[in-house]
Amino acid sequence: MLSEAEVWACLAAVPDPELAPVTLVELGLITDVRLTAAGVVVTLRLPTAQCPGLAEIRRCIAESLAPMAVWLSYDFTDAAWPSMSGTARIKLREQGIAVPEESWPFSVSCPYCASTHVECAYPWGKTLCVARYACQACHRLFDVWTRQ
Ligand SMILES: [Zn+2]
Repeated sequence: MLSEAEVWACLAAVPDPELAPVTLVELGLITDVRLTAAGVVVTLRLPTAQCPGLAEIRRCIAESLAPMAVWLSYDFTDAAWPSMSGTARIKLREQGIAVPEESWPFSVSCPYCASTHVECAYPWGKTLCVARYACQACHRLFDVWTRQ
């Protein structure tokens, strides 16, 4: 009989379609898995209500669970964004995407030179869940994860 742990094990390997190799679980996009008499319910926490990646995220999840041959449905939550894993922070930094520290005041540092002399250049980067920043020290542009 299928267990929630087996479902989580499959989902843990699903990369975010736009931010791979960071996974959906590492980003905190999948917050819960429930087994019901009818099948599996996956709860998603989306970065924005109009997340353009939703269809692709659902396709990736469905593909990963396809071998289990279960009926799949989705639930959505707007609960507080879960803490991002250290692994996700490292993988995002390797892509040039900074993640602000969670403690107040939020500080953003350049993923290339670690300078904190940065400023927001555009409210959106390559996805809606990041903003484009400019580093005043090394003059490079980088993205900052803006949903926590
Ligand atoms: Zn820099």
